[in-house]
Amino acid sequence: MAPQDNSSLYPLLMTPGPVQIPQDVLQAMALPMIHHRTPEFEKILKDVLQRLPKVFRTTQPVYIQSATGSGGMESALVNTLSPGDKVLSIVAGKFGERWRTQAQNLQAHVISIDVPWGESVDVQLVRKTLEAHPDTRLVLIQACETSTAILNPVREVAAIVRQYPKCLLVVDAITALGVTELAMDDWGLDVVVAASQKAFMLPTGLAFLSFSKKAWPFVLEAKTPRSYFDIRAEDKANKNGATEFSSSVALIRGLQVVLTHHLTGDIGENVQRFEHLADVTRKSGEALGLPAYAKSPSPSVTALRLPQGIDGEKLRLNLETKHQIVVAGGQDSLKGKIIRIGHMGDVGIPEVRKTIVALATELNQMGHACNVEAALKVIA
Ligand SMILES: *Cc1c(COP(=O)(O)O)cnc(C)c1O
Repeated sequence: MAPQDNSSLYPLLMTPGPVQIPQDVLQAMALPMIHHRTPEFEKILKDVLQRLPKVFRTTQPVYIQSATGSGGMESALVNTLSPGDKVLSIVAGKFGERWRTQAQNLQAHVISIDVPWGESVDVQLVRKTLEAHPDTRLVLIQACETSTAILNPVREVAAIVRQYPKCLLVVDAITALGVTELAMDDWGLDVVVAASQKAFMLPTGLAFLSFSKKAWPFVLEAKTPRSYFDIRAEDKANKNGATEFSSSVALIRGLQVVLTHHLTGDIGENVQRFEHLADVTRKSGEALGLPAYAKSPSPSVTALRLPQGIDGEKLRLNLETKHQIVVAGGQDSLKGKIIRIGHMGDVGIPEVRKTIVALATELNQMGHACNVEAALKVIA
């Protein structure tokens, strides 16, 4: 039995992951289960493994691991790092902090660049830091730091790291790949991590990783103990048409539909679509009197600064309970001060409009007078 399109019964996910899932993807994931060691599944796996590198814009293989995005981040580390290695962690928000902690827990010698929240890393500071620490083995960076909605200048940072033959640029592209122009091979990115519940428009549960030619010697020599995330085993299994462990059959079926119909090799079209959605969200938010928080905003998520006296947590809750629209709030010092609207999933202008109208309604109720007509003019 095919699932009904009952999406109107469910809240609209305008969060930066998980996101709205296209109907054809939901249907593929609801099919009766098959075993993963069968010709039927092997055909699906072969197809997705062939399609994934196009999205990463690489000629290298892309691996699928059953884990959340943070598992993918840890996998990138255990597969390239030896205890005591010097790691430069670029920390521009919550996800940067998480990666730094992971590297510390794996006994790396971690140095950091702490970027003020809302800003992107200064490329010259990366250059100077590497000049002062030429023995750095890994540089960790978020392409989009989802907690502050900024884009980092990954391409420029890659041009610097490329000058160090024994140093890799490891990129968390979880909310950038498929949404921005990110090009692994052309830009010289060494490890790229993505995850299913963001631009891939799937439920949480898959991480995707690829390693450049420059990264492979690191993979072969890394001394951090690894077993579940050992990419060498996965590489061997994939070459035999299988995954090392049980495959996440339902998610991979969904992935096949995503890669065939929604996130094809033609990234340019996607990029335009998301940039337009982000632009419209930002401008209509500004028309409501909510300035953009990020200095160089990402097309995957828009952070809007809330007016003094408006409790962001209460606003978020009102949107959820009264309008069935889920947006994200701010974290840590930004709690209650910003809202973050994600536009990565199966959403378009009508969903952005609905969100802006609900936002204006609630802001007016909470005492911040704003003019929804002015905001809607931006969207039209
Ligand atoms: C969502 C996200 C992650 C992964 O989070 P999980 O909850 O582990 O899937 C990592 N980095 C960034 C930048 C993200 O947006």
